[in-house]
Amino acid sequence: MKAKILLIYTGGTIGMIKDLRTGELKSLDFNYVFDHIPELERLHVELSSISFDKAIDSSDMTYAHWKQLVDILSDNYETYDGFVVLHGSDTMAYSASALSFMLQGLTKPIILTGSQLPIGTIRTDGKENLITAVEIAAAKNADGSSTVQEVAIYFEYSLYRGNRCTKISANQFEAFTSPNYPPLAVAGVTIQYQLGQDSIKKRPVLQVYKNLEPRIGLLKIYPSIPFENYAFLFNAEHFKGIVLETFGAGNAPNNQDMIDLITNYIAAGGIVLNVTQCSSGSVQQGQYQTSSFFEKIGVVSGKDMTTEAALAKLMYVLGRNEKHSDSIALLQQNIVGEMSV
Ligand code: ASP
Repeated sequence: MKAKILLIYTGGTIGMIKDLRTGELKSLDFNYVFDHIPELERLHVELSSISFDKAIDSSDMTYAHWKQLVDILSDNYETYDGFVVLHGSDTMAYSASALSFMLQGLTKPIILTGSQLPIGTIRTDGKENLITAVEIAAAKNADGSSTVQEVAIYFEYSLYRGNRCTKISANQFEAFTSPNYPPLAVAGVTIQYQLGQDSIKKRPVLQVYKNLEPRIGLLKIYPSIPFENYAFLFNAEHFKGIVLETFGAGNAPNNQDMIDLITNYIAAGGIVLNVTQCSSGSVQQGQYQTSSFFEKIGVVSGKDMTTEAALAKLMYVLGRNEKHSDSIALLQQNIVGEMSV
Protein backbone atom coordinates (compact mmCIF):
# COMPACT_ATOMS: atom_id res chain seq x y z
CA MET A 1 0.00 0.00 0.00
CA LYS A 2 1.27 3.47 -0.88
CA ALA A 3 2.07 5.74 2.07
CA LYS A 4 -0.13 8.82 2.29
CA ILE A 5 1.95 11.96 2.62
CA LEU A 6 0.72 15.49 3.22
CA LEU A 7 2.94 18.25 1.84
CA ILE A 8 2.45 21.56 3.61
CA TYR A 9 3.77 24.58 1.77
CA THR A 10 4.60 27.65 3.86
CA GLY A 11 6.99 29.39 1.44
CA GLY A 12 10.75 29.96 1.50
CA THR A 13 13.37 30.19 -1.25
CA ILE A 14 12.36 26.85 -2.74
CA GLY A 15 9.23 28.43 -4.23
CA MET A 16 10.63 31.88 -5.00
CA ILE A 17 11.35 33.58 -8.30
CA LYS A 18 13.38 36.69 -9.09
CA ASP A 19 11.35 39.82 -9.67
CA LEU A 20 13.02 41.07 -12.86
CA ARG A 21 12.23 44.69 -12.02
CA THR A 22 13.66 44.82 -8.48
CA GLY A 23 15.98 41.77 -8.51
CA GLU A 24 14.41 40.58 -5.23
CA LEU A 25 13.31 37.00 -4.62
CA LYS A 26 9.58 36.72 -3.98
CA SER A 27 7.33 33.79 -3.08
CA LEU A 28 5.07 31.98 -5.53
CA ASP A 29 2.36 29.47 -4.82
CA PHE A 30 2.84 25.74 -4.44
CA ASN A 31 1.80 24.92 -8.03
CA TYR A 32 5.01 26.60 -9.13
CA VAL A 33 7.07 24.17 -7.01
CA PHE A 34 5.01 21.20 -8.08
CA ASP A 35 5.36 22.05 -11.79
CA HIS A 36 9.15 22.09 -11.41
CA ILE A 37 9.34 18.66 -9.79
CA PRO A 38 7.36 16.31 -12.01
CA GLU A 39 9.27 13.47 -10.32
CA LEU A 40 6.96 13.91 -7.31
CA GLU A 41 4.23 12.18 -9.27
CA ARG A 42 6.47 9.18 -9.90
CA LEU A 43 7.25 8.54 -6.24
CA HIS A 44 5.59 5.50 -4.75
CA VAL A 45 3.42 7.60 -2.42
CA GLU A 46 -0.02 9.13 -2.41
CA LEU A 47 0.75 12.81 -2.20
CA SER A 48 -1.64 15.57 -1.18
CA SER A 49 -0.78 19.18 -0.57
CA ILE A 50 -2.01 22.15 1.36
CA SER A 51 -0.61 25.69 1.33
CA PHE A 52 -0.58 28.71 3.53
CA ASP A 53 -2.95 31.26 1.96
CA LYS A 54 0.06 33.42 1.24
CA ALA A 55 3.51 31.84 0.93
CA ILE A 56 5.98 33.63 3.20
CA ASP A 57 9.68 34.19 3.55
CA SER A 58 10.42 32.38 6.80
CA SER A 59 11.71 35.63 8.34
CA ASP A 60 8.01 36.47 8.62
CA MET A 61 7.23 33.27 10.57
CA THR A 62 5.31 33.95 13.81
CA TYR A 63 3.64 32.02 16.64
CA ALA A 64 0.41 32.37 14.70
CA HIS A 65 1.96 30.44 11.79
CA TRP A 66 3.22 27.74 14.16
CA LYS A 67 -0.31 27.38 15.53
CA GLN A 68 -1.66 27.20 11.98
CA LEU A 69 0.87 24.45 11.21
CA VAL A 70 -0.08 22.58 14.38
CA ASP A 71 -3.76 22.82 13.41
CA ILE A 72 -3.06 21.41 9.94
CA LEU A 73 -0.82 18.65 11.32
CA SER A 74 -3.14 17.60 14.15
CA ASP A 75 -6.31 17.78 12.02
CA ASN A 76 -4.69 15.49 9.44
CA TYR A 77 -2.65 13.36 11.81
CA GLU A 78 -4.80 10.23 11.60
CA THR A 79 -5.34 10.44 7.83
CA TYR A 80 -1.70 10.56 6.73
CA ASP A 81 1.37 8.41 7.30
CA GLY A 82 3.79 11.31 7.24
CA PHE A 83 4.17 15.04 6.70
CA VAL A 84 6.62 17.22 4.79
CA VAL A 85 6.68 20.93 5.58
CA LEU A 86 8.24 23.17 2.94
CA HIS A 87 9.70 26.07 4.86
CA GLY A 88 12.33 28.78 4.38
CA SER A 89 15.64 27.78 5.84
CA ASP A 90 16.23 31.03 7.79
CA THR A 91 13.93 30.18 10.67
CA MET A 92 13.44 26.48 10.00
CA ALA A 93 15.30 25.47 13.17
CA TYR A 94 13.04 27.72 15.28
CA SER A 95 9.89 26.26 13.71
CA ALA A 96 11.15 22.69 14.03
CA SER A 97 11.96 23.30 17.71
CA ALA A 98 8.55 24.86 18.35
CA LEU A 99 6.69 22.05 16.58
CA SER A 100 8.58 19.44 18.59
CA PHE A 101 7.20 20.90 21.83
CA MET A 102 3.75 21.66 20.45
CA LEU A 103 3.19 18.12 19.11
CA GLN A 104 4.35 15.51 21.62
CA GLY A 105 3.93 11.77 21.45
CA LEU A 106 4.46 11.62 17.68
CA THR A 107 4.52 8.23 16.05
CA LYS A 108 4.70 9.72 12.55
CA PRO A 109 7.34 11.86 10.84
CA ILE A 110 7.11 15.61 10.37
CA ILE A 111 9.97 16.53 8.04
CA LEU A 112 10.82 20.17 7.39
CA THR A 113 12.79 20.98 4.27
CA GLY A 114 13.49 23.80 1.85
CA SER A 115 16.41 24.97 -0.25
CA GLN A 116 19.13 27.53 -0.70
CA LEU A 117 18.38 28.02 -4.42
CA PRO A 118 14.88 28.42 -5.89
CA ILE A 119 13.36 25.42 -7.60
CA GLY A 120 13.39 27.20 -10.97
CA THR A 121 17.19 27.53 -11.03
CA ILE A 122 19.30 24.89 -12.75
CA ARG A 123 21.53 24.07 -9.76
CA THR A 124 18.70 24.05 -7.24
CA ASP A 125 19.11 21.93 -4.14
CA GLY A 126 15.34 22.01 -3.68
CA LYS A 127 14.59 19.04 -5.87
CA GLU A 128 16.75 16.54 -3.99
CA ASN A 129 15.73 17.96 -0.63
CA LEU A 130 12.03 17.66 -1.35
CA ILE A 131 12.11 14.26 -3.05
CA THR A 132 14.21 12.66 -0.30
CA ALA A 133 12.15 14.34 2.44
CA VAL A 134 9.03 12.73 0.95
CA GLU A 135 10.80 9.39 0.80
CA ILE A 136 11.81 9.69 4.48
CA ALA A 137 8.29 10.73 5.48
CA ALA A 138 6.99 7.58 3.77
CA ALA A 139 9.57 5.16 5.23
CA LYS A 140 8.16 2.32 7.32
CA ASN A 141 9.61 -0.35 9.60
CA ALA A 142 8.91 -4.02 8.97
CA ASP A 143 5.99 -3.89 11.44
CA GLY A 144 4.33 -1.06 9.51
CA SER A 145 5.20 1.70 11.98
CA SER A 146 6.90 4.86 10.71
CA THR A 147 10.69 4.77 10.64
CA VAL A 148 10.98 8.38 11.84
CA GLN A 149 8.63 9.35 14.65
CA GLU A 150 9.56 12.93 15.39
CA VAL A 151 10.01 16.44 13.99
CA ALA A 152 13.12 16.51 11.82
CA ILE A 153 14.89 18.70 9.28
CA TYR A 154 16.14 17.21 6.02
CA PHE A 155 18.73 19.27 4.19
CA GLU A 156 21.57 18.36 1.83
CA TYR A 157 21.73 14.61 2.41
CA SER A 158 21.29 14.74 6.20
CA LEU A 159 18.27 14.26 8.42
CA TYR A 160 18.57 16.03 11.76
CA ARG A 161 16.49 16.06 14.93
CA GLY A 162 14.51 19.29 14.52
CA ASN A 163 15.17 20.72 17.96
CA ARG A 164 18.93 20.03 17.76
CA CYS A 165 19.55 21.97 14.56
CA THR A 166 20.85 25.36 13.74
CA LYS A 167 21.36 27.15 10.43
CA ILE A 168 25.07 27.70 9.95
CA SER A 169 25.44 28.93 6.40
CA ALA A 170 23.73 31.59 4.35
CA ASN A 171 25.23 30.33 1.10
CA GLN A 172 26.40 26.70 1.38
CA PHE A 173 24.04 23.90 0.43
CA GLU A 174 24.99 22.29 3.74
CA ALA A 175 23.08 24.98 5.59
CA PHE A 176 22.35 23.11 8.83
CA THR A 177 24.20 21.33 11.53
CA SER A 178 23.23 19.49 14.66
CA PRO A 179 26.25 20.16 16.86
CA ASN A 180 25.31 18.13 19.92
CA TYR A 181 23.34 15.26 18.44
CA PRO A 182 24.21 12.92 15.56
CA PRO A 183 22.17 12.98 12.35
CA LEU A 184 19.09 10.75 12.36
CA ALA A 185 19.89 9.62 8.84
CA VAL A 186 22.32 10.18 6.01
CA ALA A 187 21.12 9.90 2.44
CA GLY A 188 23.56 8.36 -0.01
CA VAL A 189 22.69 5.70 -2.55
CA THR A 190 20.43 4.40 0.19
CA ILE A 191 19.12 6.23 3.25
CA GLN A 192 20.99 5.05 6.33
CA TYR A 193 18.99 5.63 9.49
CA GLN A 194 20.73 6.00 12.86
CA LEU A 195 17.76 6.78 15.04
CA GLY A 196 18.14 7.56 18.73
CA GLN A 197 14.50 7.89 19.55
CA ASP A 198 15.05 6.47 23.00
CA SER A 199 15.67 10.00 24.28
CA ILE A 200 12.18 11.14 23.28
CA LYS A 201 9.64 10.33 25.96
CA LYS A 202 7.03 7.93 24.56
CA ARG A 203 3.43 8.99 25.08
CA PRO A 204 0.35 6.88 24.43
CA VAL A 205 -1.39 9.52 22.30
CA LEU A 206 -0.59 12.69 20.43
CA GLN A 207 -0.54 15.66 22.77
CA VAL A 208 -1.08 19.08 21.28
CA TYR A 209 0.07 22.27 23.04
CA LYS A 210 -0.91 25.43 21.25
CA ASN A 211 -0.47 27.93 24.00
CA LEU A 212 2.96 29.54 23.74
CA GLU A 213 4.13 32.41 25.96
CA PRO A 214 5.27 35.16 23.57
CA ARG A 215 6.88 37.39 26.22
CA ILE A 216 10.32 35.81 25.98
CA GLY A 217 13.62 37.71 25.77
CA LEU A 218 17.04 36.79 24.40
CA LEU A 219 20.33 38.38 25.43
CA LYS A 220 23.76 37.50 24.09
CA ILE A 221 26.49 38.46 26.55
CA TYR A 222 29.61 40.19 25.17
CA PRO A 223 32.74 41.61 26.77
CA SER A 224 32.02 44.93 28.49
CA ILE A 225 28.25 44.55 28.06
CA PRO A 226 26.57 47.56 29.76
CA PHE A 227 24.01 45.59 31.78
CA GLU A 228 22.35 48.72 33.16
CA ASN A 229 21.17 49.48 29.59
CA TYR A 230 19.42 46.12 29.50
CA ALA A 231 17.39 46.74 32.66
CA PHE A 232 14.25 47.02 30.47
CA LEU A 233 14.68 43.34 29.60
CA PHE A 234 14.85 42.08 33.18
CA ASN A 235 11.31 43.22 33.85
CA ALA A 236 9.08 40.27 34.79
CA GLU A 237 5.95 42.15 33.68
CA HIS A 238 7.20 42.47 30.11
CA PHE A 239 9.33 39.33 29.80
CA LYS A 240 8.27 36.13 31.54
CA GLY A 241 11.47 34.31 30.62
CA ILE A 242 14.87 35.19 29.20
CA VAL A 243 17.35 33.04 27.34
CA LEU A 244 20.86 34.17 28.19
CA GLU A 245 23.54 33.26 25.66
CA THR A 246 26.72 33.05 27.69
CA PHE A 247 30.40 32.35 27.03
CA GLY A 248 31.87 28.84 26.87
CA ALA A 249 30.48 26.45 29.48
CA GLY A 250 27.90 29.00 30.66
CA ASN A 251 30.12 31.81 31.92
CA ALA A 252 29.53 35.55 32.21
CA PRO A 253 31.43 38.54 33.61
CA ASN A 254 31.47 38.75 37.37
CA ASN A 255 29.38 41.91 37.20
CA GLN A 256 27.31 43.08 40.17
CA ASP A 257 24.83 44.99 37.95
CA MET A 258 24.06 41.77 36.11
CA ILE A 259 23.78 39.69 39.29
CA ASP A 260 21.41 42.27 40.86
CA LEU A 261 19.27 42.52 37.71
CA ILE A 262 18.91 38.76 37.44
CA THR A 263 18.37 38.22 41.18
CA ASN A 264 15.56 40.80 41.28
CA TYR A 265 14.08 39.47 38.04
CA ILE A 266 13.93 35.92 39.39
CA ALA A 267 12.51 37.17 42.71
CA ALA A 268 9.75 38.88 40.68
CA GLY A 269 8.86 35.53 39.03
CA GLY A 270 11.03 35.67 35.88
CA ILE A 271 12.95 32.66 34.60
CA VAL A 272 16.45 32.81 33.13
CA LEU A 273 17.69 29.94 30.96
CA ASN A 274 21.43 29.76 30.32
CA VAL A 275 22.70 28.42 26.97
CA THR A 276 26.15 28.68 25.49
CA GLN A 277 26.95 30.91 22.53
CA CYS A 278 29.51 28.27 21.43
CA SER A 279 28.31 26.24 18.49
CA SER A 280 28.78 22.97 20.37
CA GLY A 281 29.16 21.70 23.92
CA SER A 282 27.19 22.28 27.07
CA VAL A 283 26.60 24.76 29.88
CA GLN A 284 28.02 23.52 33.17
CA GLN A 285 27.12 26.07 35.81
CA GLY A 286 29.67 26.04 38.62
CA GLN A 287 32.54 24.65 36.60
CA TYR A 288 34.14 28.12 36.70
CA GLN A 289 33.83 30.90 39.25
CA THR A 290 32.34 32.95 36.40
CA SER A 291 29.22 30.80 36.41
CA SER A 292 28.86 29.76 40.06
CA PHE A 293 26.75 32.87 40.79
CA PHE A 294 24.20 31.70 38.22
CA GLU A 295 23.69 28.49 40.16
CA LYS A 296 23.32 30.43 43.43
CA ILE A 297 20.73 32.91 42.13
CA GLY A 298 18.56 30.29 40.42
CA VAL A 299 19.47 30.60 36.75
CA VAL A 300 18.46 27.38 34.99
CA SER A 301 21.12 25.54 32.99
CA GLY A 302 20.04 24.95 29.38
CA LYS A 303 22.78 22.31 29.13
CA ASP A 304 23.52 21.60 25.45
CA MET A 305 20.34 23.06 23.97
CA THR A 306 20.53 25.28 20.91
CA THR A 307 19.25 28.83 21.32
CA GLU A 308 16.37 27.96 19.00
CA ALA A 309 15.33 25.03 21.19
CA ALA A 310 15.78 27.05 24.39
CA LEU A 311 13.49 29.82 23.13
CA ALA A 312 10.86 27.31 22.00
CA LYS A 313 11.08 25.39 25.27
CA LEU A 314 10.63 28.54 27.36
CA MET A 315 7.62 29.57 25.24
CA TYR A 316 6.11 26.12 25.62
CA VAL A 317 6.83 25.67 29.35
CA LEU A 318 5.59 29.14 30.29
CA GLY A 319 2.59 28.71 27.99
CA ARG A 320 1.50 25.80 30.17
CA ASN A 321 0.91 28.17 33.09
CA GLU A 322 2.29 25.78 35.68
CA LYS A 323 3.50 26.67 39.18
CA HIS A 324 6.90 28.41 39.06
CA SER A 325 8.68 25.39 40.58
CA ASP A 326 7.01 23.03 38.08
CA SER A 327 8.09 25.25 35.19
CA ILE A 328 11.68 25.10 36.45
CA ALA A 329 11.45 21.32 36.80
CA LEU A 330 10.15 21.01 33.22
CA LEU A 331 12.95 23.20 31.90
CA GLN A 332 15.50 20.97 33.60
CA GLN A 333 14.05 17.83 32.00
CA ASN A 334 14.67 16.48 28.54
CA ILE A 335 11.14 16.58 27.11
CA VAL A 336 11.41 15.81 23.39
CA GLY A 337 15.06 14.97 22.85
CA GLU A 338 16.09 18.63 22.92
CA MET A 339 18.97 18.17 25.32
CA SER A 340 21.34 15.50 26.57
CA VAL A 341 20.77 14.42 30.15
N1 ASP B 1 14.85 33.89 3.22
C1 ASP B 1 14.52 32.53 2.89
C2 ASP B 1 13.54 32.01 3.93
O1 ASP B 1 13.93 31.63 4.98
C3 ASP B 1 15.75 31.68 2.84
C4 ASP B 1 15.50 30.24 2.50
O2 ASP B 1 14.41 29.79 2.26
O3 ASP B 1 16.47 29.49 2.46
O4 ASP B 1 12.36 31.99 3.66
